[in-house]
Amino acid sequence: MAHADLAAVVPTRRRLKREIMLHLPEQPDHAILGQTLAEFAAARGKHPQFFKKTYAHMMRTAEGIALPPITRQHDDGGTVKFCLPVGDYNGKSLETESVIIPMLSYKGPSWFSLCISSQVGCRMACSFCETARMGLLKNLSAAEIVQQRIVARELRLAQFAAENKPLERPRYCYFVDGIQNIVFMGMGEPLDNFDNVTQAIRVLSDPSGLAFPMSQICVSTVGRIDGLNKLAALNWPNLRIAISLNAPNDKLRDELMPINKGMPLKDLQRTLIEYPMSPRGRYMIEYVLIKGVNDSLADAEAVADFCRPLRCIVNLIPYNPQRGASFETPAHETVLAFMERLKSHKIFTKRRITKGRDLMSACGQLGNPEVRRQKPNPRLPVLPTV
Ligand code: SF4
Repeated sequence: MAHADLAAVVPTRRRLKREIMLHLPEQPDHAILGQTLAEFAAARGKHPQFFKKTYAHMMRTAEGIALPPITRQHDDGGTVKFCLPVGDYNGKSLETESVIIPMLSYKGPSWFSLCISSQVGCRMACSFCETARMGLLKNLSAAEIVQQRIVARELRLAQFAAENKPLERPRYCYFVDGIQNIVFMGMGEPLDNFDNVTQAIRVLSDPSGLAFPMSQICVSTVGRIDGLNKLAALNWPNLRIAISLNAPNDKLRDELMPINKGMPLKDLQRTLIEYPMSPRGRYMIEYVLIKGVNDSLADAEAVADFCRPLRCIVNLIPYNPQRGASFETPAHETVLAFMERLKSHKIFTKRRITKGRDLMSACGQLGNPEVRRQKPNPRLPVLPTV
């Protein structure tokens, strides 16, 4: 093939940039981050093939996308928490909170998990959670969810550059930055913002763009049965599901997690049994251990009863203290005894090593104290029951 012909089919970096500028407004609205390739092309009246390279380049390099500035960023021994602005409510600035968490393998820290938010605040009112104190202030759009992943990637790549480390893999690999998991465990209940969260998952996993495998994305829910049923209808068997259990029986769960009053454990268990998960899939059952509240061996027996019919892994999380909270973290021995009791019932159980507690970025600690005292947004819909 002649050189001129080759130049016509092989897109150079400059050509791609020109293409992006041709097809996007000069200051592109970052709402395009909420679009898959098919939607991006349809919005411009073209076949997806026409934009295939443009879209891939845009999503994988962030060129031509107006990313928001980071409003706050903290680093605690490799755990990085960063916040992005997402408008305001009642005159106060709102922001998302995301955490990049280094994960340990037997070789040492080797990969990262990205914990992202689906809402600002939350209306589930779990009594052990910092975010619950804010009330629900905003449902994030799909673009506002996806931009957390892109900013995290740019942060990681900037760190590579600062350390003079060459990229080990081509930039189009989804794990070029070492982030191999995305978990919806930041602020908010993902299934309470169902449409935007599922659209964000479509964009994150679009093979023509960010190409993040669905099997590496985890949606963590308090047990919104209506949301789980809607998720089941989408038939995404590889999507990972985590359930915040946190109590062994309805009486205690009603107190700790008010959602349980309308969606009790028996109904939740039946929904999980019927959910169309892939044959190799496992639920992650999250259990926050609170001293003297839900950490007895009798509680462990009841948790084992709940888990027995499910294919699951139990993840024990010693309670992370909040600002001025009345709950306490259990002793290490109590956590071990709880874990051993579950294991004696052949329930695969892990203990989560807490990271980012000093930054208030550990599990259940996200939330901005400056906006948490505002009233919840009255325009948001009423909580359903099943
Ligand atoms: S634990 Fe999750 S669902 Fe419950 S209030 Fe906190 S953010 Fe919301």
